[in-house]
Amino acid sequence: MSRHVICPVSGLSVESPDDSQYLEYEGMQLFFCCISCEDNFLKDPDYYLAGNGSYHLS
Ligand SMILES: [Zn+2]
Repeated sequence: MSRHVICPVSGLSVESPDDSQYLEYEGMQLFFCCISCEDNFLKDPDYYLAGNGSYHLS
């Protein structure tokens, strides 16, 4: 079974994320399209959890 999830920062779909893209935050399982998105999420988790993420910073 393949996992298909959406990066909460960029809004991009994440195909078969590996462990480095995975973060458990307050009981939620989150997957990021790349490390920079995870970094951005951790700077302001509440902002992205509120559904404000829709851009990609490289
Ligand atoms: Zn990304």
